[in-house]
Amino acid sequence: MIHILIVEDEKPISNLIRLSLKKAGYLCTCVYDGAEAADILEKQSFDLILLDIMLPEIDGFALLEYIRPMGIPVIFLTAKNAVADRVRGLDMGAEDYLVKPFEIIELLARINVVLRRYNKTAAELRVGGLVIDTQAMLVYREGETVPLTPKEYELLLLFARNPGIALYRETIYERVWKEDFPYGSKTVDLHVQRLRKKLGWEAILHAVPKVGYRLEARP
Ligand code: CA
Repeated sequence: MIHILIVEDEKPISNLIRLSLKKAGYLCTCVYDGAEAADILEKQSFDLILLDIMLPEIDGFALLEYIRPMGIPVIFLTAKNAVADRVRGLDMGAEDYLVKPFEIIELLARINVVLRRYNKTAAELRVGGLVIDTQAMLVYREGETVPLTPKEYELLLLFARNPGIALYRETIYERVWKEDFPYGSKTVDLHVQRLRKKLGWEAILHAVPKVGYRLEARP
């Protein structure tokens, strides 16, 4: 399920966005200031962030600097209609920009475009010589199915949807096993090793020291 972080200090707007996105089938988490956003991003990974510019504690621009190395796409939300802000946001690497008040349908359309750009909505993913059919939950290599356990499949999907991004062991565990990471657990490492061998991904699924694993992004 696509998980979206909403960083917006105006509760009525935040609630409206959350309810609308929930209806559209997204999983949402709301935070109400910049510091809270930075905190949750330390612990959890998201597929997309909706980021207000004028925020208490840390503003949206400063937060974007912090988010950018994580490779999570950001759509700015702001009441400011100033051209300078728009240019600044896009220059800094935001994917898109919406001026409040906006129509929810417009927001959903923009979210869709950004997720597609990041390969997060496609029913069929092509990565590392594989074709992943996310509807049938089947994986093919040169037309032959690759047998995977459910956990291996989830793990593969997580990497396929986040190419080029170093994923923390904790994040991987939480996303695939849907539980808190047990301190010192080797479960992720064992599963990644097995998956790597099964897929012949020794050269493209890298260990990242002190972090976890990263799938090489290939065009
Ligand atoms: Ca605000």
